[in-house]
Amino acid sequence: MNAPLRVLMVEDYEDDALLMLRTLRRAGIDVESLRVQDAASLTAALAETWDVVISDFSLPGFSGMDALALCRASDEQVPFILMSGTVGEETAVAAMKAGANDYVMKDNMARLAPTLLRALQDAATRAELRRTELKLIESERRFHAFMDASPIIASIRDGSGRTVYGNRVWNDTVGHAAAVSVARMTSDQVVLTSGLAAESVEEINLPGTAPTYWKNIRFPFVGAAGQPLIGEFSTDITTLKQSEETIRKLAYLDALTGLPNRRLMIDRLTHAMASCARRGIFGALLLINLDNFKLLNDAHGHAAGDFVVQQTGRRISDCVREQDTVARIGGDEFVVILEGLGKLAADVAVDVDAIGREILKVIAEPYLLVGTSHKLTASIGIAFFHDQQHSPDELIKRADLAMGNVKTAGRNNQLFFDPAMQARITLRNTLEADLREGLANSWFALHYQPQVDSDGRLTGVEALMRLAHPVKGLMMPNSFITLAEETGLIVDLGYWALDTACKQLQTWAQDTTTARLTLSVNLSARQFSDDNFVPRVLALVAASGIDPSLLWLELTESLLLDEIELTIDKMTILREAGMRFSLDDFGTGYSSLSYLKRLPLHEVKIDRSFVRDLLGDVNDAVIVRAILAMGQSFGLSVIAEGVETIAQRDFLIENGCRRFQGYLFGRPVPVEMLDLGDTATVMACG
Ligand code: C2E
Ligand code: MG
Ligand code: MG
Repeated sequence: MNAPLRVLMVEDYEDDALLMLRTLRRAGIDVESLRVQDAASLTAALAETWDVVISDFSLPGFSGMDALALCRASDEQVPFILMSGTVGEETAVAAMKAGANDYVMKDNMARLAPTLLRALQDAATRAELRRTELKLIESERRFHAFMDASPIIASIRDGSGRTVYGNRVWNDTVGHAAAVSVARMTSDQVVLTSGLAAESVEEINLPGTAPTYWKNIRFPFVGAAGQPLIGEFSTDITTLKQSEETIRKLAYLDALTGLPNRRLMIDRLTHAMASCARRGIFGALLLINLDNFKLLNDAHGHAAGDFVVQQTGRRISDCVREQDTVARIGGDEFVVILEGLGKLAADVAVDVDAIGREILKVIAEPYLLVGTSHKLTASIGIAFFHDQQHSPDELIKRADLAMGNVKTAGRNNQLFFDPAMQARITLRNTLEADLREGLANSWFALHYQPQVDSDGRLTGVEALMRLAHPVKGLMMPNSFITLAEETGLIVDLGYWALDTACKQLQTWAQDTTTARLTLSVNLSARQFSDDNFVPRVLALVAASGIDPSLLWLELTESLLLDEIELTIDKMTILREAGMRFSLDDFGTGYSSLSYLKRLPLHEVKIDRSFVRDLLGDVNDAVIVRAILAMGQSFGLSVIAEGVETIAQRDFLIENGCRRFQGYLFGRPVPVEMLDLGDTATVMACG
């Protein structure tokens, strides 16, 4: 059962009041009432809570309007119904405007109950609205307090990109900077729509020099009015990014040198090994350990030690290509990873050997310490990789083993782990040393092989180089010419040979039996491409005073292949100075007849491989005949090399060959052993 309705009646006539109460009770409304008739008692009554106030319009001493004002002054909400017998429509409307909820005419008392009920209903609805409103205001207040307290930048943009909300930090940072005016939205204007994708992005702004990184979370939602909006939360993650960078560096780079540390080195090595295996090429790992580094630390202190380590890192880095890795993996230990070296083990060994030597050389340069300088050496162990048979760890162990062997053998050197590779390189290095020593100590000699005409009479010789090693004995050109070319020593050797040949021609010029002998000298490509070649040869010939037409220069086809125009120019100058050119090993190369014609050649030499099987191999016989025919039609002299038997000579003579060289007529020998008994002048030809 509901509590009775508390009704405050402002009515001077008790009868009227009773009538009202009866009317209400008759309508089934249980009423608990109080009647007042002056301002003072009304004010007192208003201290209590009432469900409804029903007031007469005309009262003695004060009016219904005054009662309404008093009532509203103490309670905004309580329903106020005006009762009147006299008041006109206009006054009633004015009362409604002043806050009365309704009015009832006394002569129409039947309306009281429904009016009252409607007023109560209205009041309830209003109260409910009010509560909702208060909740919204509270929610809005809470929203702003919450967002403004947040260190995260929060903002909302509308469809056109205009910022329609920004919290305090937004105003202080982004909004302030962008000078965007913000219309603060009330929270009931936006309704978060769940289920729409949020987007997380990291941005970098470059307002000045220092970059600022932002982490932004953006999410689209729909505002209460149905408009699309973009919410955004942003945090300044600059310090986070900087720490990440620092951590990354600390994790992968050596703090002292800034070089990759062991971890990054293993990572790079793993990649290098995979890449080389895939491409079928070699890579190499060089483990470099400084010799007696402890002594340096003890003598000059750790700061000096650190300085030397930094310097060493830099010096090593200067020896390798950009794509190679130089890492510091221990106090005095470095690793170099060389990638993409090539497919041929022999070439790779040579290249890596050269890089290792260079590293040893730069480390050996003095380190300038405060007030003093320090000398240091290193030991290098080298391991190769070209398939993925081994793990990075195994490879490092191999290099370490090789490095250990260097230490035991006396330091300041390098060794390969692979014994075959090492043997090859040792041989090569020894040979290179032999060549240098040979040049310095005149161990080189020219031997001379006779060239004869069809009557077997000596017309000239070919000079063939020998290295008379005091311990190893006589070394043949096939064992050292290639290395001499690779190391560039051939240039000096070649000039030595030309010089020696000119001197020999000078000597022969003194004697009528030898005065017309020709002398052929072999030239290598490397020698011929030397910029000074032509002037130096001209100078040599001029200085010796010999007849230049007796000096024949032997070139091979491979030499002619590159820079053909330049080659022709050089040959032409020397040809015009009187010298003659022979094309050596003819038939083994790829020269086309068309460009052979363009060369100022005097002679071609049939390679001895064709002569060897002349009588057994039909193809060789055909080739030899063709060369002889070509010589004839081009007006070139043709000489057959490697003639060892009479049968070979006879076949050659039958087919028009007039010049011969081979064991049948004499092996290459020192000049004093040459048989000069039967000489003839070479037939002028071409
Ligand atoms: P090449 O210029 O074709 O010299 C001919 C080679 O054949 C010589 O070998 C010679 O001893 C050899 N030979 C000659 N007749 C016969 C024969 O009847 N039977 C056989 N089996 N071999 C014969 P060698 O002296 O060992 O020289 C080899 C190559 O080294 C030369 O081939 C030449 O390309 C190069 N060479 C020699 N001396 C020099 C030099 O001073 N400078 C340069 N750049 N290369 C040189
Ligand atoms: Mg030759
Ligand atoms: Mg030859």
